[in-house]
Parts: sequence; structure tokens; C-alpha cells
Amino acid sequence: MELSASAQERALRSEVAAFLEEHKSTFDDVPRELAARLKHLRAWQKTCYDAGFVGRSWPTDVGGRGAPAGEQVLVDEEFAIAGAPPFASVIGLSVLGPALVEFATPDQKARYLPPVLAADEIWCQGFSEPEAGSDLGSLRTVAVEDGDYYVVNGQKTWTSWAQFADWCGLLARTDAEAPKHKGISMLIVDMRLPGVTVRPVEQISGHAEFCEVFFHNVRVPKSQLLGAPGQGWSIAMHAFGHERGTSALRAQIRLSSAFDHLVGAVRERLATDIDPARMAEVECTLAKSLIDIEVLRQHTFRMVGGALNGKEVGAESSTVKLLRNRTEQNLYVRAMDLLSTSLAADDKPEAALAWYDSYLQSRPVSVFGGTEQVQRNIIANRILNLPKS
Ligand SMILES: Cc1cc2nc3c(=O)[nH]c(=O)nc-3n(C[C@H](O)[C@H](O)[C@H](O)COP(=O)(O)OP(=O)(O)OC[C@H]3O[C@@H](n4cnc5c(N)ncnc54)[C@H](O)[C@@H]3O)c2cc1C
Repeated sequence: MELSASAQERALRSEVAAFLEEHKSTFDDVPRELAARLKHLRAWQKTCYDAGFVGRSWPTDVGGRGAPAGEQVLVDEEFAIAGAPPFASVIGLSVLGPALVEFATPDQKARYLPPVLAADEIWCQGFSEPEAGSDLGSLRTVAVEDGDYYVVNGQKTWTSWAQFADWCGLLARTDAEAPKHKGISMLIVDMRLPGVTVRPVEQISGHAEFCEVFFHNVRVPKSQLLGAPGQGWSIAMHAFGHERGTSALRAQIRLSSAFDHLVGAVRERLATDIDPARMAEVECTLAKSLIDIEVLRQHTFRMVGGALNGKEVGAESSTVKLLRNRTEQNLYVRAMDLLSTSLAADDKPEAALAWYDSYLQSRPVSVFGGTEQVQRNIIANRILNLPKS
């Protein structure tokens, strides 16, 4: 992707930098408690959206700015340099929003996409089930036609942020007779409908970032079908392409900010907690993460560059996902290693907890969006053309 700085791009960078200077906000300002965190990030996203920095490249008729996609990349980079916090609409912006842009009717786009950009409504992704994670095609949630409605019954699990979600992009079986991948459809489900029960699952961090979601005779109007009946699998693959691939653009920016934080934290502790005799080793450890991040960045740019030029985000997204996993997990393992002595005795518990939280949050990166083994299978079969056996 060509990112050479034209006069227009330089002007945009200055505009973003001025905005960030005026609205100083960093990771350190984000509350730890989940509901407070989401509230804070929603307000932050809204401020940024009003200023034209969210959905810049989305079509104007859905609330975007219709700008070339490279502009959003540039804006995101400036946010990273400033150490700005992420946005609240993780699934909406990076996973299901792009699917809505591609597959929704004009009425659905007008209804659902502007609130995604402004963080007025939060989405969750209702794909995985207790017996259908890697083997998603085996999902058992059913949506049976009844007049103008689908009646949904079943259970989803691992549904991130479901307790805060207004809408769910739900995969359900609408045709029991069709081959398993062809009988699945995607429904846009109002999370407040009677029969929807959300049960948050607390993790080792003490937060409940995902939930189990139960559907009991939930009546979903047929107008809430996304795409055609039986098109759910194609829509899910489109969403995965973005979840595994293009969302790495934001991830590498976040990791780059975290790396800068880490260097700062190491520098602060040099005199006290880190033995100067270990300096060469410390520098080497930091350099490894810097290289990881740069490699991830280049691969992500190459893939996003292809997408900007109309190439479908396909199997290549699995390579980016593997790189992202390694980069993120290694970074926080190294942070724990470098800072552990001082974190244990930290007189600023919030700062210490933030490192622990990030470390814990990095562990499931190699599971969500499809496990490492599944990504390797995709690379083996679809890129290297190796036999399935
Ligand atoms: C933090 C977190 C957030 C998540 N958020 C969401 C969400 O918002 N929405 C959603 O729908 N899902 C979400 N998921 C679910 C995630 O997509 C699944 O956990 C993942 O696809 C794996 O499925 P599973 O947990 O059922 O494991 P399984 O599929 O049971 O896999 C168990 C093990 O077997 C291996 N395995 C399975 N099949 C193969 C194979 N064919 N070849 C080689 N190895 C194989 C796997 O790699 C894994 O190691 C989330 C998961 C996590 C951890």
C-alpha cells in the first residue's frame, strides 16, 4: 500500500494531531471495571466520530465520510502515535459492520450502520456454540419460519460483550435438509427480545468479557435476515476475513502503543528494579518485540492494500492472524518478564493491574477468531494446496 505523504495527507495528519492535542485521552484514562470501561470508550468513540475520524472510509449513506480507505489507516496511525485508547464498537466496526456494508439491504444499512459508527449501539457476534467452535458448520441453533417471523431456539457461547449488546449477528440453521454449510442463515437479533437470556462468564482477570446466550422461542421478524436464506456461511467467512485480517490494522497500532509504554516503563525502572548489567539482554528482548510488530505491520499493510484494491480478504488473513497472535502474546510475556519484580511491589496498583490485564487478555488471542490449528489448516489447504489428510 502506498502511504507516501501527499500534501493532503500531511494536512490530515495535522488535523488529527490537533484534535488529539485538544482531546487528550490515553489508555491510562480508561477505567478498569468493564461497564465503566465501555461507557468511557463509547464516549471517546462518539467524540472521534463527530470529528470525522471513525468510519472515514465507509460510504456516506451509512454515516461514513466516503474517503479513500488509506485515510482511515493514516488517522489510525496518528491515534496510535498519540497513545489514544481504542474504540468501543469492536465487533461492530471490525467484524459485523463490514459484513453489513457488503450484504445488508439499503434500509438495513441506513438503520444499523450509523449507530455502529457513533457507538450508540453495540453489537455482538453470535457464532460459536458449545459443540460448534472450530467446526462452526455443526451449529445447532435453529430459526424456523412462522409467518413473518423466524422462531429461534438454541445456545451460543463465548459471545464477547453480549451483556452490553443491543444487536447480535446470529448464525442459525434455517434449512435442516440442506448440506450443513448451506442451511445456515444470519439474523440480526434484538438482544432485548423476550426469550433472550444472557449469562456473563467471569474470567481469571475477574472481568466477564464474554457470555453464554440462550434463545428460547425468540421471534425475529423476517426483515431482520441479513443477505439471502442460506447465505449465512458466506457472510460468516466474510466476517472472519475481517476479524482475522483487516482488524489487525487496529491491533498492530494498539501493540505499537503498548510497546512504547513498555519501553517507558522499563526506562522508569532502570535505576531501581532493573539491573544495569542486564541491559544488553533487556534491549535484545525489546528489539524482538519491535521486530515482531514491524513484521505484523508490513503483512497487515500488504493485505489491507490488496483489500483497498478490490481483492477479497481471503485465506491470507490466517497468516496475519498467526503473526498477530505471536506478536501480542510475546509482547506481554516479555513485559511480565521485564517488569515482574517492580509490578509485584508497585505502589501504583492500577498501572500494575493494567499490565496483568493485558497479559491475560493476550492469552486467548490464539483462540478467538479461530484457533491457531485452524488457521494452519486453512494455510495448508487453501494457500499451500496441501492435501487435507
Ligand atoms: C476470549 C474469547 C472471545 C470469543 N468471542 C467470541 C464471540 O464474540 N463470538 C463467537 O461466536 N465466538 C467467540 N469466541 C469463540 C472462538 O471463536 C472459539 O473458541 C474458537 O473458534 C474455538 O472453538 P472451541 O472453543 O469450541 O474449541 P474447539 O473447536 O473444541 O477446539 C479445541 C481444540 O481442538 C483443536 N481443533 C479443533 N478442530 C481442529 C482441526 N480440524 N484440526 C486441528 N485442530 C483442531 C483446536 O485448535 C483447539 O485446540 C471467543 C473465544 C474466546 C477465547
